[in-house]
Amino acid sequence: MLHVVAAIAPLADLVANVGGQAVRVDTLVGPGVDAHTFDPTPRQGALVAGADLVVYLGGDLQPAVARMATSLARAGAAIDLHAALGGPRDPHVWLDPARMRRLAAVVRDELLRRAPGGPTGPVGTDIADRATRYDARLGALDDAFRATLASCRTRVLVTAHEAFDAWAKYGLEVIGVAGLSPEAEPSASDLERTVATLRQHRVTTVFVERGVPTGLATTLAREVGAATAVLDPMESLSREQAARGIGYVTVMTANLAVLRTGLGCGSAG
Ligand SMILES: [Zn+2]
Repeated sequence: MLHVVAAIAPLADLVANVGGQAVRVDTLVGPGVDAHTFDPTPRQGALVAGADLVVYLGGDLQPAVARMATSLARAGAAIDLHAALGGPRDPHVWLDPARMRRLAAVVRDELLRRAPGGPTGPVGTDIADRATRYDARLGALDDAFRATLASCRTRVLVTAHEAFDAWAKYGLEVIGVAGLSPEAEPSASDLERTVATLRQHRVTTVFVERGVPTGLATTLAREVGAATAVLDPMESLSREQAARGIGYVTVMTANLAVLRTGLGCGSAG
């Protein structure tokens, strides 16, 4: 069995879906923990040092994890999946199902190279089959986002922190109140500009995020008389999600339902 360490929950879910019985997956960022400021423990350092494969995201998403992966993992075992995508500005790449498909292909190939019995043995064949099925699910998810978001009352998506750039490809104008990290403080003029945008586009819903401080976004919503709705950036699972074994596709499907209502898309009613 291959031991894989994944930095965050969506990557762990991807590895488990592709690897099946061939992998044992440990997730570094546990339930309810802030992924951005997360600091690995020495015990997790030992896990990383012994792992067959370590998958994480660079691009300043989790500087402490990136440092640990590059310094402690065995030669060739640490894979920066953000770099594998060419290093887009917003490192929250898992929120784009199409990018997840590319990451699933990278993980499949890394697992196949390490599969006992080789890529064409029983283990390798199972991994390749699983990857094909998971790719189809991710493709269907991407299609559902595109179809649902094709016609909405408003296309302005205002969120608490800047994690949802990925959804701009569906024609949304994505505005994060704080920066790429929830801890970033927006300036007064940034906030004024956001309020003006909200008013100009008659935004009726401001999106806050589970597991992220919501103070500023809630204040802005009140200022323009908008409601708030909760999106899940899946930077970590909640304790309840972890206990129920909730996966990436389920979280994203729920996010799409929240978007449909909040933006007034399609036949949401
Ligand atoms: Zn984030």
